[in-house]
Amino acid sequence: MKYIYGPVESRRLGRSLGVSLSAHKICNFDCVYCQLGSGKAFRQEDPACSNSSEVLEEFSAWYAQHQPESEKLDYVTISGLGEPTLHSSLKEVIAGIKKVSNCRVAVITNSSLIPRKEIRECLLGADLIVPSLDAVTAEAFQKIDRPSSGVKIEEIIEGLVALRKEFKGQLWLEVMLVRGINDDRAHIAALTQAIKRINPDKIQLNSPVRTTSEKDIFPIDKKQLEEIKALLGEKCEIA
Ligand code: SF4
Repeated sequence: MKYIYGPVESRRLGRSLGVSLSAHKICNFDCVYCQLGSGKAFRQEDPACSNSSEVLEEFSAWYAQHQPESEKLDYVTISGLGEPTLHSSLKEVIAGIKKVSNCRVAVITNSSLIPRKEIRECLLGADLIVPSLDAVTAEAFQKIDRPSSGVKIEEIIEGLVALRKEFKGQLWLEVMLVRGINDDRAHIAALTQAIKRINPDKIQLNSPVRTTSEKDIFPIDKKQLEEIKALLGEKCEIA
């Protein structure tokens, strides 16, 4: 299979079948904690890399061949190799999966294109959106996510506030905390304020524990993670 992988047991999403909209990494970030390799695969946009009919044919074949297992999925999760909102077929893929199956659809996004209303509209057919927010200052954003030029963190935050109002499904915000990069007190205080404004259904805190694209990337310690979780209140969990 080229686009479908799994199912996998995910700590965050339960039993999840993965859908990747491309066969190679396409992303407009180059996060220091990325597990898909270094920035050599970094791209701005490549909407031609997959088309919805190929992805949906593969999904339909998998779904038909895996009854009744397919009924036990918690989510079909669109993420995979890079950033799904860079793909022009995202809206059609979400609609197509829901048309041929009973599956709930989740989309994991780096949030970079959430400021664009037309991209937010593409996501409205999903049941769950998991956007990332690792930083709230331009400095921390550059250090941890290393976005392509033109992506502004203040616009992402406003986009997430708008998405919360427009989207009726579940919104789970993911925050990756890296020691010495985005975990200082001032940044955590500002992050807490931004998250309150966004008002997600859940906040999932993470810290890198697997091999990352950069050396010397360390998780924050468990005690600090628990303190930040307490600051963010009852909707927050450690993923
Ligand atoms: S957004 Fe995801 S795929 Fe893109 S560089 Fe960051 S971790 Fe890797």
